[in-house]
Amino acid sequence: MSPIRLAIVGLGKIARDQHLPALAATPGIELVAVASRNAALDGVAHFATLAELLASGEAIDAVALCTPPQGRRELAEMALRAGKHVILEKPPGATVSELAPLVAAAQETGRTLFATWHSRFAPAVEPARAFLAEAAPRAVTITWKEDVRVWHPGQRWIWEPGGLGVFDPGINALSILTRILPLPVFVTGADLAFPANCASPIAATLDLADAGGLAVHADLDFLQTGPQTWDIAVETDRGTLVLSKGGALLSLDGQPLDLPPEAEYASIYAHFVQLVAEGRSDVDLAPLQLVADAFLLARRTIVAPFHD
Ligand code: NAP
Repeated sequence: MSPIRLAIVGLGKIARDQHLPALAATPGIELVAVASRNAALDGVAHFATLAELLASGEAIDAVALCTPPQGRRELAEMALRAGKHVILEKPPGATVSELAPLVAAAQETGRTLFATWHSRFAPAVEPARAFLAEAAPRAVTITWKEDVRVWHPGQRWIWEPGGLGVFDPGINALSILTRILPLPVFVTGADLAFPANCASPIAATLDLADAGGLAVHADLDFLQTGPQTWDIAVETDRGTLVLSKGGALLSLDGQPLDLPPEAEYASIYAHFVQLVAEGRSDVDLAPLQLVADAFLLARRTIVAPFHD
């Protein structure tokens, strides 16, 4: 089969850092176009917008939407209706309810819609899931603390409605959590801190539970200077399992466990090639639903304004 001809839409940080190298390393797919208002790549067809790309007649089979979540639904709808397969960066949209019509559009057009959760492809995740299928979890603590000024400099969209604020990284923890636990979890309480000049939170604490009474506590912070922390600790009847560095490392009672090398985005593209070949979609909204529920249940506080 000839390779999937892909266009990247929104050539920003994640497209450059991860999508370009992963695409170059993945058989069965190739980058043929970029749609981005302010950025282009040598040797690759360039258009300012997805609408211009689709109108041009440039031969593409798929698009990877690497724009901010706000406005992504319209782009996905446009691409699916034009007969293209679609990769959605995380989070899959700005709301939960906008995804059902996209899933329906993918079904109607016979195209693949893949809502990616890159952290689920981190090396520790599948081994942790296998361990927790056998060991009874007793409590979970998520600590997700990073410096927004280091990781998201100048990204105003994060602070706008639909930008998720601290949940932009925090949803990665929830994507891992919902993959490794044996039972679904739901939100039981949340405290969100909003900077006085922002529409999305800069810090959050979250309590969740499952139907068996498992308690999950999450502490998310966007103002962490010094060491950065992306950890999930699961106490079980067989010891404490810790996924650290966003799922890059795994330990049991402090002993490091052997893992395969990191290949999050290469695995995303390999999975996409397989989904297209099999004529399937992959859209799991559980992490986004938890964030939406946190907003529903939250107590809110207003804190100092945030300036980059
Ligand atoms: P980014 O650096 O701001 O890049 C997004 C690109 O989208 C921009 O460069 C811009 O390119 C285009 N764009 C189109 N409409 C836009 C708008 N209204 N506002 C701003 N940019 C717009 O963002 P990113 O960090 O790559 O994140 C993009 C998505 O990937 C987000 O959903 C994020 O959660 C996800 N993600 C990010 C990371 C990370 O480490 N940064 C990791 C994993 C996933 P033009 O101006 O050229 O059109």
